[in-house]
Amino acid sequence: MKISRILGFCCLLLPPLASRAQAPPAALLLRPAAVFDGQDLHPGWAVLVEGTKITAAGPADQLKAPAGARTLELPGLTLLPGLIEGHSHLLLHPYNETSWNDQVLTEPLALRVARATVHAQRTLLAGFTTARDLGTEGADYADVGIKQAIDQGIIPGPRLLVATRALVATGSYGPHLAGVENLPQGAQEADGVDGLVRAVREQIGHGADVIKVYADYRWGLGGTAQPTFSQEELTLIVQTARSAGRGVVAHASTAEGMRRAVLAGVETIEHGDGGTPEVFRLMKQRGVALCPTVAATDATSQYKGWKKGQDPTPPRVADKHRAVQAARQAGVTLVMGGDVGVFAHGDNARELELLVQDYGLSPLEVLRAATSGNAQVLHLPDRGRVAPGLLADLVAVAGDPTHQVETLRQVRLVLKGGVLYRQP
Ligand SMILES: [Zn+2]
Repeated sequence: MKISRILGFCCLLLPPLASRAQAPPAALLLRPAAVFDGQDLHPGWAVLVEGTKITAAGPADQLKAPAGARTLELPGLTLLPGLIEGHSHLLLHPYNETSWNDQVLTEPLALRVARATVHAQRTLLAGFTTARDLGTEGADYADVGIKQAIDQGIIPGPRLLVATRALVATGSYGPHLAGVENLPQGAQEADGVDGLVRAVREQIGHGADVIKVYADYRWGLGGTAQPTFSQEELTLIVQTARSAGRGVVAHASTAEGMRRAVLAGVETIEHGDGGTPEVFRLMKQRGVALCPTVAATDATSQYKGWKKGQDPTPPRVADKHRAVQAARQAGVTLVMGGDVGVFAHGDNARELELLVQDYGLSPLEVLRAATSGNAQVLHLPDRGRVAPGLLADLVAVAGDPTHQVETLRQVRLVLKGGVLYRQP
């Protein structure tokens, strides 16, 4: 079983040389209507790209391109740093197509990987040039191979930070089927000192850029969310990961799960629905960011029958509103990440749109967060801004996204590492 799955995976990723990405041109001068540099909008700026990097950005009339440079006129477009997706699952597809249980239990690994290659392309063409992919949900270490395929130019996709299998306390996660023993699980079960140290190191050894832990899950009586790992276990996970230079992110939606994870030293909390003002103050104190994943809550509520705009707000959506408001009041940094995979890859902008339309953030706030903000939280100083020396990961959209978030759907140009993947 295990061997055939591994072989299927390897064969799928043999490089078709013809589809390798083209080398970047020597120099490319981009002349949009305006440049959003990760912080502010600059009308009349141009950007020079040489090789894989940005080498100059500033007022168009002051920017000299080297001889032989190709010029791309981008009238009416705003050029911005490639967007950074903070929370995706390339190996999942929307739950209203196939339930999470069925994806984990019945879909062959090769099918999941094949889908994921398409998801990666859609993510990139939607203007997201980097994604933090937070768990394969039962697809072992397939994210590491997908990342390699992208980095080697075999398939188009965003630069990936991968979490591999993620860690769950034994018995706490899923799938569960009454009376069936030893079902494959959506993440790696590990407990206690030896078990957790070993599991963290295994995941790092297999290529994890970040360790993801489920600090709570819906394993309480009546399916309520309850904490999973003890404080000591979470602290040990963070220490083990940090010693190898990896940060830890925690799935947590209960106040107690969040509190333990924050005290343990995780860098971001994913979801955070049940966060109290006290917990968010603690997050602010410890410099822990919140990735609220409002788009996933919105999507799953609609999958369960919520007719948005007609029905009253479901309790889970109301909780999310309370949490985002409390986090903002406490001054907690927000990570832009929608838990894409719960809804369609390529629809990543949904998180930013909802935060503006339903949660009261400004387009400028979400745009800063999805570029320079996410780059800072994710420790990616080489991207997220338009400035000399940074990676030439750039996107152009029709209109002004600092005033109208909907323009993020009008992606006209995508450049990653100086290579054009989409152009007008
Ligand atoms: Zn997730």
